[in-house]
Amino acid sequence: MSAPSYQSNYDVIVIGGGVLGAFHAYHSMRRGFKTLLIERDRSPLRASVRNFGLIIPSAMPEGIWRERAFASREIYSELSDILGIPLRHSGTQYLAHTEEEARFLKHMSQTQNDDHCPAEFLNSEQTINLNSCLNPAFCKGSLYFPRDLQFDPREFFRAFINWIANISDCDYLPNTTVVSVEQGNDQIRIKTADGNLFQAQHTFVCSGADLQTLFPEIYTESNLHYCKLQMLKLSNPENRKLGTSIASPIALTRYPAFLQAQRSQDISLTLPDQKIQDHGIQIWMTQNANDEFILGDSHSYSDEPPDEFLSAEIESQIINYARNMFVHLDFQVIDRWCGIYTEEKSAGLFQHSRGDHIHLITGIGGKGMTTGPGLAKENIGHLSL
Ligand SMILES: Cc1cc2nc3c(=O)[nH]c(=O)nc-3n(C[C@H](O)[C@H](O)[C@H](O)COP(=O)(O)OP(=O)(O)OC[C@H]3O[C@@H](n4cnc5c(N)ncnc54)[C@H](O)[C@@H]3O)c2cc1C
Repeated sequence: MSAPSYQSNYDVIVIGGGVLGAFHAYHSMRRGFKTLLIERDRSPLRASVRNFGLIIPSAMPEGIWRERAFASREIYSELSDILGIPLRHSGTQYLAHTEEEARFLKHMSQTQNDDHCPAEFLNSEQTINLNSCLNPAFCKGSLYFPRDLQFDPREFFRAFINWIANISDCDYLPNTTVVSVEQGNDQIRIKTADGNLFQAQHTFVCSGADLQTLFPEIYTESNLHYCKLQMLKLSNPENRKLGTSIASPIALTRYPAFLQAQRSQDISLTLPDQKIQDHGIQIWMTQNANDEFILGDSHSYSDEPPDEFLSAEIESQIINYARNMFVHLDFQVIDRWCGIYTEEKSAGLFQHSRGDHIHLITGIGGKGMTTGPGLAKENIGHLSL
């Protein structure tokens, strides 16, 4: 039997075409490196196309993650021109349901308003004026972040991967699973399930929630866990428009930016009902490219890979909560799915290099769409060949 030959040489090979992988490949190609992106499916089908498409610096705490969110917002804006994919520039509203929450948000608007992430407190009437689908009886006001963005992630990735595959200078290999990555004498050697062999100077392994195929021994020792989220699509027979992306008041007790603000105001907002907490429910409502409503989500954490079955109990909890927030919607479910991501429990990101040339990146949790492109630009910026 002849020895394997590594005929295809690249500067950089990226494994996994989700948001982390696709943007590492994009920035590598932009730096002029000969780049190959390898994806198990025809185009990515996992977390990166199962989410709300929210790009929300507003939810990030001050510091490096907020900076990465700002950088990502710019990158998406550039790309949306290249791809001809519209970004929704309508911003985000975080709702207050109680007077206590309204006071908290008002205070936050006065103390944490910066030019890159302006925030405006809206009273109940102003909140409804911006978003007529909201229930006036539910809303005591909102914090409005006009510079947050949103897009339909399925539409975006369809166009982005098509552009990478057919137009850009990056090579794209779909329907291909990488089964081994090894350090050779002076190159990284990559083998695929169908027996093809590639060589590269550097490889980025961005395999999302698949911690079992490549380097399972490293992930076993890590501080990663899985999170499974449930999502719904609702019909929109009356062709209504959401004026903004909407977050329920539960967000104020979940997202780092709001937890940071609670600490600085020295207050602790009342937590939601126990059942809502048990399922990690936080209500978001956005719209996809067909203006159907995207409603979610729940968070179930585990140390083992979760199944992909959907819970009727979680679905009804999500719908019941959302029914209080919205009017004029028919709540007819036309699709349901779950998504799974990994999360590094303390650092909020798992980055590990084996030697100087094999880089594992996952565990970005629920902020991958918001911050992934900026993180990828940073990593590729540090690369020297
Ligand atoms: C329901 C839901 C809602 C969310 N909403 C938002 C949001 O609105 N805003 C936000 O900022 N974040 C959101 N997130 C988080 C965000 O989606 C994730 O952080 C992000 O998608 C993770 O990207 P990734 O590239 O690490 O993983 P993935 O998207 O899972 O991509 C990994 C890819 O690697 C491929 N792969 C794995 N192993 C191999 C292999 N051996 N060979 C070849 N290919 C391989 C897989 O096929 C997959 O395509 C949400 C997540 C979920 C699940």
